[in-house]
Order: sequence, then structure tokens, then C-alpha cells
Amino acid sequence: MPNDATSPDWPEPRSAYLHVPFCRHRCGYCNFSVIADRDDLVARFLSAIDRELALLATDHGPPRIETLFVGGGTPTHLTIDQLHQFMRIIGRRFDIGGLVEWSMEANPEDISDDKLALLAGYGVNRISLGVQSFNDRKLAILERSHRGDATAELIHRVADVIANVSIDLIFAAPGESLADWQRDLQIASSLPITHVSTYALTFEKGTTFWTRRNRGDLLTVDESDEIAMYDLGRQQFADAGLQHYEISSFAKPGFRCRHNLAYWRGDGWYAAGPGAAAFLGGKRTMNHRSTTTYLKRIEQGDSAIAETETLDWEQAAREQAGFGVRMIDGVDLDQVRQATAVDIVALCGRELDQLEAGGLIHRRASHIQLTARGVHFADTVAAEFFG
Ligand code: SF4
Repeated sequence: MPNDATSPDWPEPRSAYLHVPFCRHRCGYCNFSVIADRDDLVARFLSAIDRELALLATDHGPPRIETLFVGGGTPTHLTIDQLHQFMRIIGRRFDIGGLVEWSMEANPEDISDDKLALLAGYGVNRISLGVQSFNDRKLAILERSHRGDATAELIHRVADVIANVSIDLIFAAPGESLADWQRDLQIASSLPITHVSTYALTFEKGTTFWTRRNRGDLLTVDESDEIAMYDLGRQQFADAGLQHYEISSFAKPGFRCRHNLAYWRGDGWYAAGPGAAAFLGGKRTMNHRSTTTYLKRIEQGDSAIAETETLDWEQAAREQAGFGVRMIDGVDLDQVRQATAVDIVALCGRELDQLEAGGLIHRRASHIQLTARGVHFADTVAAEFFG
């Protein structure tokens, strides 16, 4: 369906994502846009992202945002001085007076009391910690350099300064048993966290884990064990008062990640940094993933964008339904129709019937929701809407 005069307007973005690509080393499973052991590039990166963000300003000034997520890489890998500089850039390039959620990703080995105080001083009000596990053996397999005990203790210290603490946990690591995972879940549940994201380990092409698995050096966890681990997480976090609200996400009441909700609703967002993906006015762009290419292009006065895709309203509606169905509360297809002027029921009627007949979704009027069985097939269900 082409965009035309009768189409709704794309929403004004109120969110931004900034990507800081630096890490101490590259973990074997990581497929993010990351550059390891190149701290010599940080100064150039800060100048480049400043220049990139300057382009967002209009006659009305810098864009006004309500949620900001600074991810990576490891943003807290920057030194104190570099973090000050970065925070000042953010304050100059965005209107952050109405910011309600400012998340910063951090790694346990890089976050010090000084850095925490600095972040809190600039207004960061949510920390997303890359914990992955509290089990030293599993952390070593994942090539993470922090220790489980120290991380549990660190989470208390972080929560004393910035109370809204989210952690990421990985399950189905090579050699991991259900009992191992249960210990991770029990420790996580005992800590002062507001939010958890859990991910089954994936073996991405191009990573050393991919090569090692194909050589037989890394044993994968059985699919049935992986499902049992996922269900154990759901049970454990429900018992701990963390509501399962999206396929991989759990939150205490009032602590759902507003930034991610904006992504999943397709609200639009600014983005900057290597590999960062923006969605503005129906256009999806992705920057060059290589940090050195990103730097060179910006320093030469060229655009950092490597790929552009323009969505029409039908694609936008399909995405809203596909991401929306991953929400545990489900999605109202009538609301999607109101936002996009596209009727998903008319477009995907046969798929909806099949998903319902297969016991993967419930339907009540225009509202659809994954069934208990469908939660395990969320990607398959979502793919039916993407067409
Ligand atoms: S710390 Fe995170 S972003 Fe950095 S290499 Fe490891 S998994 Fe990737």
C-alpha cells in the first residue's frame, strides 16, 4: 500500500539510541557492532558522534526525547573524562528536559563508584548490566571477565545510587544444566533488580562460537532443555514479582522498559553510532557497522548510513502486529488499524485462522495473544505477520 494523502502521519520520534562500540575484548558469541582493545579511537568517536547528532537539529533546536538508551559495546568502558565529554554532547544535541527514562548499558568489570556517581549526576536513571550469569564456570565459557560473587555485590552498590537496575542473563550456554540455570535465577531473584532480560545463547555466523560449535568444540544444549530453562525463568521471576511482559523481558510493576516499548510499538527513534539503526518518518536506516568506516565517513563529511529501507503503511502495520504479538498481554489489531489505516485481519486472515487452529494464539474480538504453547513459538507466530 503506497503512502498517500489519506495515510496517517508517522509519529514524531521521542526516543533515541546511541551506540558506543568499545569493549575490552570481544566475547566469543558476540555479533554486535563492537571494536575491542582500540581505546585510542575513543576521542575520534566522540567527535564523530557529536557531528552525527548535530545533523538532527531543526530550526526548533535539538530533538526533544523522552527515552534514551545508550548501548554498545560497553559505554562504561569510557574513562571518567570521556564520559563527562559524552554526557555533555548528549545534553547539547538533545532536549532532555522531558526525559523520563535514560538507560545506560554497563559491564560489571567497568562500572566503578565514580562512574556511577557521574552517570547519576547527568540524569541517567536506569542501568542495564550485562551480567549474563553468576556462575564463574559459565562466565569463563562465555569469555566474560567478571566474577559471579563480585557482580551480585556490585548490583547492591548500583541500586543504592541508581535504583532502576536491569540485568541481562544468558541461558543454554555450552554444558549448562537446568540446575546451573536455576542457581542463576535464584541469585538474580534475591537481588535488588527491577527488570531482567533473558536470552538463549545463539551461535551467530561470523563469531568464534559459530566456528567452535561447527568444529564440535562447543556442545549445544538440547532444544527440550532450552525450553525447560525458559519456562523455569518464567516461573522463578513470576514468584519473585517480576512480570513477564515481553517474550524475553520481565519487570517489577512500573518498570517495563519504556524505550523498548517504543521500539515494539514502532513509534520511531533517532540513532547514532556505528551500526546504529534509526526509524524516522517511515524510513529505517542503519549505519556502517565497522567503527573505523563509520569514523572515516563522518570525518570526510559523508553520511554514516550504510542501508536505507522505506516502509509503507502495510509494512508498518505488519511490524506492529509482529512485534506486538511478542508482548505477553498481546496486541489489539484494531489499534494497529487506527495507527496505520491498514487492516491486518483482512490482510492476514488465513494466517490468523491457522495460528488459532494450531493453538498458538487466542483471539478475542480484535485482540490477539500468544497461548501458553504459543509463547514457545513467538518467532514463528510473529513471522506470519511479516509477510
Ligand atoms: S561485552 Fe557485550 S558487547 Fe562487548 S564483546 Fe562482550 S557481548 Fe559483545
